[in-house]
Amino acid sequence: MESIYQRCRDFAASFIAPYTDRTDSESRFPEESFKALGEQGLLKLLIPEAYGGFGKGLEEHAQACLAFAETCSTTALCYMMHNVAVMCLVTHGSEELKKRVFTDVVEHGKFLALAYSEFGTGTHFYLPEMTAVVSGDHTTFNGKKSMVTSASYASYYLVLAPSVEEGKINNWVFPLEAEGLSFEMSGWQGMGMRGNSSCPMRVDQVRLDSSYRIGAEGTGEEQVFQVVAPFFITGLGAIYSGTALHMFEVASGHAAGRKYPDGRSLSHIETVQVHIGNIYKQASAAKAITLEAARAGANGEADALAKILAARIFASEAAIECGRLSMRVGGGKAYNKALPLERLLRDAYAGQIMAPSADVLTIWLGKALTGQMIP
Ligand SMILES: Cc1cc2nc3c(=O)[nH]c(=O)nc-3n(C[C@H](O)[C@H](O)[C@H](O)COP(=O)(O)OP(=O)(O)OC[C@H]3O[C@@H](n4cnc5c(N)ncnc54)[C@H](O)[C@@H]3O)c2cc1C
Repeated sequence: MESIYQRCRDFAASFIAPYTDRTDSESRFPEESFKALGEQGLLKLLIPEAYGGFGKGLEEHAQACLAFAETCSTTALCYMMHNVAVMCLVTHGSEELKKRVFTDVVEHGKFLALAYSEFGTGTHFYLPEMTAVVSGDHTTFNGKKSMVTSASYASYYLVLAPSVEEGKINNWVFPLEAEGLSFEMSGWQGMGMRGNSSCPMRVDQVRLDSSYRIGAEGTGEEQVFQVVAPFFITGLGAIYSGTALHMFEVASGHAAGRKYPDGRSLSHIETVQVHIGNIYKQASAAKAITLEAARAGANGEADALAKILAARIFASEAAIECGRLSMRVGGGKAYNKALPLERLLRDAYAGQIMAPSADVLTIWLGKALTGQMIP
């Protein structure tokens, strides 16, 4: 645990922290941090060693997302999506597709994104409405994706589209330069996660041959539930745990440093001590349950799914609660943006609505625990 987590913490201090304020205030994609992620090899964390990567899995994915989110939640979120897309290719991609994409990641620092959600089916992103018309070895796509993190910055986009097999879906890789692919770059006005560039993607007569499809015809749903779900949901648990830990650092540091004229600090006030204790309790519990979920998932344990769902729900709710308490500790200085707490609270609010939302996942958790089918 210590090496990947610590390595990513060190990376974040040097290559993410310097850009974090500007990323939020200008709603700017963290390009410099992503360039450094490529140069320092962290984009290839999950790529198998045979393709020049580090061959790591779910636990290291969680550790990296956690470490980055302790410095910048939005940069961590963009990175998390890249890892999820990479893992889909690792498990289901053809040899040819893996070579093509992984070479670009390993040698050229390119990265990936997920273009799944649509305006119509919203949080139920595994039910795409876009069209896919097959002619020989080629498929022509039309439609629109609603919120694509890293839009226009990523070089490859995983896209869910209907299969020719009734009721099934496929998972495709769309290269950025595919003719007919465009982004509505003014479409991101997020209250938080402002570096995400989560813009709508237009798919207008995009034509791809079958080498761009991940896995066999009609296996998209299997990929969503076997690969995307564990890596994405665990990754979100890690990001909101990291956000909550970041809140603890800022709130406790402020409580110790803010002095009254009599020389006493905020941290001498019992109510503030209670708030700091509650923030620590929630943030630490979120981290612990998330890392345990990642461990259980990596080892294929029977209760891994329940742990992963519980971790993600708990961490996103804990981050919002830690943000609420941190704002009380921070007072007027936090409200007036002298501290980054209001930014972290805005970032935290993405947790409950990102697909599958906390409400949907709570239902899934109940189903998993009572032995019923998900979704
Ligand atoms: C910061 C951020 C980044 C994102 N990045 C990406 C990305 O990179 N790629 C991508 O594909 N998508 C992305 N999304 C989109 C996202 O994950 C959701 O799909 C999208 O927010 C759903 O939007 P909607 O308003 O249509 O939700 P709706 O489907 O309208 O749902 C609204 C709310 O209703 C509730 N709800 C809906 N159905 C049910 C149900 N059956 N049971 C219980 N509650 C229900 C949910 O709690 C949900 O929060 C991103 C979103 C955010 C906030």
